[in-house]
Amino acid sequence: MSLDERAAGLDAVDPLAGEPAKFSLPDSTIYLDGNSLGPLPRHVPAVLQNVVEQQWGHDLITSWNRHGWWEAPRRAGDRIGRLLGGAPGQVVAGDSTSQQLFSATVAAARLNPGRRTVVIDPASFPTDLYVVASVAELLGLEVAQVEPSHLQHFLADRGSDVAVAVLCEVDFRTGERLDAPALTDALHQSGALVLWDLCHSAGALVVELDAWGADLAVGCGYKFLNGGPGAPAWIYVAQRHQEQFRGAVAGWNGHARPFAFEAAYEPAPGVSRARVGTPAMLSLLSLDAALDVYDGLDMVDVRARSVSLTGFFLECLAELAPDLEPVTPREPERRGSQVSVRHASAYAVVQALLARGVIGDFREPDIARFGFSPLALTHVQVLRAARELADVVATRAYADPALAARTTVT
Ligand SMILES: *Cc1c(COP(=O)(O)O)cnc(C)c1O
Repeated sequence: MSLDERAAGLDAVDPLAGEPAKFSLPDSTIYLDGNSLGPLPRHVPAVLQNVVEQQWGHDLITSWNRHGWWEAPRRAGDRIGRLLGGAPGQVVAGDSTSQQLFSATVAAARLNPGRRTVVIDPASFPTDLYVVASVAELLGLEVAQVEPSHLQHFLADRGSDVAVAVLCEVDFRTGERLDAPALTDALHQSGALVLWDLCHSAGALVVELDAWGADLAVGCGYKFLNGGPGAPAWIYVAQRHQEQFRGAVAGWNGHARPFAFEAAYEPAPGVSRARVGTPAMLSLLSLDAALDVYDGLDMVDVRARSVSLTGFFLECLAELAPDLEPVTPREPERRGSQVSVRHASAYAVVQALLARGVIGDFREPDIARFGFSPLALTHVQVLRAARELADVVATRAYADPALAARTTVT
């Protein structure tokens, strides 16, 4: 069977084949960057127009009550929680991932007092490394950079001093996915907590926070959750930790009685205490609206589609560009929703693809990265993208000097 027939066949049998129609993307574009900025769900502009004109413009301050603005962080949080295997009442949306990471790391250290070490994977997204270092500096803790494959060994030696490990389930460069339940168990056996960074998981992978026994988790709203540029992040606090949870910043939105305006802080019951200040409401409501796309969907089906799209891309590359070396694991259970390839001119390869309407991105030092929004893409598009990539590499189209000039955002 030809690749064209395979692509058409895979699209025809896919139970989620109707999903791409929910997104608004230019016809000329194949969008393989949903792991940096999710595409625009078609219905969101009308919702935002109503938010701006009716809610803000007409109903003004009364919208906090009338349109449920006050509850929006919890409402969006529960909807995100459902996609992550978290029962209601454990997730709130707000702030940025960097801020949520900071707060969650502080909270974890407080939940596990007496232990002085924070473990982090050196391959983590850099903000995670910076944030953990800044928490350690502030609280007088020690940071241990430990590769996940060495974690068991490290814990056998120093596990009794580990307060928390901060781990990204999916490596943002290679797309490799960790065995989150096994790592969670290993940490718990040492009495350590785990803080999962699920930026590249939420909305694409089957995450089972409650079943894993995760302690804390954070993630982005603007990647596979499609919340829009700069959409709020979210934090998960397992039910059993909520009564003890103290984030980095005690803010009035997280007070037990915010409108009593009391001088002394008393944390709200439950996960609401993870709220801080007034949320960026337009972005939060954009995220909340974008989540409609997932209503009624089972993440098992979403993940199956993600695996199918990434697997088909790998299959196409093996046939069309056999010299190109994917750094993403071929085993479906070991990869996230992206495929990365290594190339000495990766930056120019990505630029050449951009000129042909295929949007991926570049990550230092030599990685061309393609993220697969599981609901927005078709297998036919995946094949077209693979053909363009194979052609750019075979014809050395990337060697055009005009493609080498670096932009600020890569
Ligand atoms: C995208 C990403 C972030 C981004 O953090 P922001 O505060 O939203 O800029 C953090 N961590 C990981 C693992 C990411 O993939």
